[in-house]
This record gives sequence, C-alpha cells and structure tokens, in this order.
Amino acid sequence: MLNARKKFQKKKSCRFCTDKIEIDYKDSVLLRQFVTERGKILPRRLTGTCTKHQRRLATAIKTARIIALLPFSITK
Ligand SMILES: [Zn+2]
Repeated sequence: MLNARKKFQKKKSCRFCTDKIEIDYKDSVLLRQFVTERGKILPRRLTGTCTKHQRRLATAIKTARIIALLPFSITK
C-alpha cells in the first residue's frame, strides 16, 4: 500500500505555522506536496497541518485545479 507515512516522518507541526508560509494557489510546487499522486488532498494526520491551514490548503488546491484547466493560467 501507500508509504505516505515515510514521506512525512514524525513531524507533527504545521509547516505553514512553523515556516510562516503563505498558501498560494499558484504555488504548484508547494501544493503538490500536499496531494497524492492522484491529486487527492492528503489528510491532516499525515501532513501535520493545522485545521486553519488545512482548510486554506484545500481551497488553494481546488482553485489550482480549476485554473489549471484554463488557458490563461500562468504555470511555470
Ligand atoms: Zn498552521
């Protein structure tokens, strides 16, 4: 099965709180770390993200999915 646990180790702190990272739906590199290979959003218990940021993350990922389908998106 999935070895997601290995990927995220035992780190339980929220990355966004710790590193003061702004969640940006345009930051595909960042968002990709919080979704599975199939594009599913990883649960909080695996990533350690706090409720507040998990919510923002989910919104950002959904937005990113939408804009990725549109021709005017500036993807890098
Ligand atoms: Zn947080």
